[in-house]
Amino acid sequence: MIPVNEPDLGALELEYVNDCLATGWISSAGNYIDAFEREWASYCGRTYGVAMCNGTAALSAAVAALRLSPGDEVILPSFTIISCALAVVENGGVPVLVDCDPDTWTMNVDSLAGKVTGRTAAIMPVHIYGHPAEMDPIQELARARGLAIIEDAAEAHGARCKGRLCGSFGEMSCFSFYANKIITTGEGGMVLTDSPELVERLRSQRNLAFRPEQRFFHTELGHNYRMTNIQAAIGLAQLRKIESHLEKKRWMANAYHERLKAFDQLQLPQERAWAWNVYWMYGVVLRASAGMDARQFADRLRQNGVETRPFFLGMHQQPVFHRMGLFAEESYPVTEHIARYGLYLPSGLTISEDQIDQVCDAIRKALS
Ligand SMILES: *Cc1c(COP(=O)(O)O)cnc(C)c1O
Repeated sequence: MIPVNEPDLGALELEYVNDCLATGWISSAGNYIDAFEREWASYCGRTYGVAMCNGTAALSAAVAALRLSPGDEVILPSFTIISCALAVVENGGVPVLVDCDPDTWTMNVDSLAGKVTGRTAAIMPVHIYGHPAEMDPIQELARARGLAIIEDAAEAHGARCKGRLCGSFGEMSCFSFYANKIITTGEGGMVLTDSPELVERLRSQRNLAFRPEQRFFHTELGHNYRMTNIQAAIGLAQLRKIESHLEKKRWMANAYHERLKAFDQLQLPQERAWAWNVYWMYGVVLRASAGMDARQFADRLRQNGVETRPFFLGMHQQPVFHRMGLFAEESYPVTEHIARYGLYLPSGLTISEDQIDQVCDAIRKALS
């Protein structure tokens, strides 16, 4: 079976982790945390990094740092992971959805302005599968209406929008370093910001809202979202190799593209002229001529030794939110379409040309 993903770990990760074990710095204090925060922030052109235990926690801490009033609204794409909507709901906010673009699968910026109300506090763009959201109109709208931007760059390490790195756009920008992300810490995340005020709130959220001047005295509630020194050690080793990871992803996308462009039953990933896509995952969407949905396609590929993953299911299609009175009557046709007909192919950092050939053979069989 060709796995949908495999991390690329090596001798440097082992060396840094051994150093943590040998020196006893295994929890959330230690040099690797400081170095990883500093170096990831610097790579993305930001002032501060606050490491978190995962990307979901990073998003939650970032929304908490906005200090929403109950009922304040945050606009986010319907086509994303639940972590985005969860972060808003958890902090007393109301998630407001926009559909996605049929080609890039990122937030549809044309429907954005129509969703802004007197209660809107922030916009949360998500860079999907390595393709950046179109940041110009998002930033313009945010500036004009006084809205914060929380960027979800969990799938877009190193991606660029008009030459500028994803993760450099938001008041706060969130990353995940889960095992399938472009650089990994196993589990892990980080929020980047340039604001000294926000960085204090983020650190407080991460560490149970302990106060520096009087420990065990609390004026607000926080969480334990701390990353360990061991995780940061892996992350630092990964960061040393990020350029080769990005190269590998672009090589993979090109190899798939060359082999799959002749199949007119498949819609392939795109790269807008203003974008530098890092192809975190190589997604395909079945056209009507394929005569099946992604679930049937995935079954056939599995029978031919290829593991895949379905696309996200829309936030408005989640029973848990319907029960909360959210999104019940809403419809986002592009999201619904790609959720039903989209899946992503094996896209790991260790994938070989041979494996890509095998995947494409399996696709040929599955479609015939
Ligand atoms: C992976 C991911 C997250 C969540 O990160 P975890 O580290 O798994 O909690 C959030 N947003 C997006 C877009 C992701 O792909």
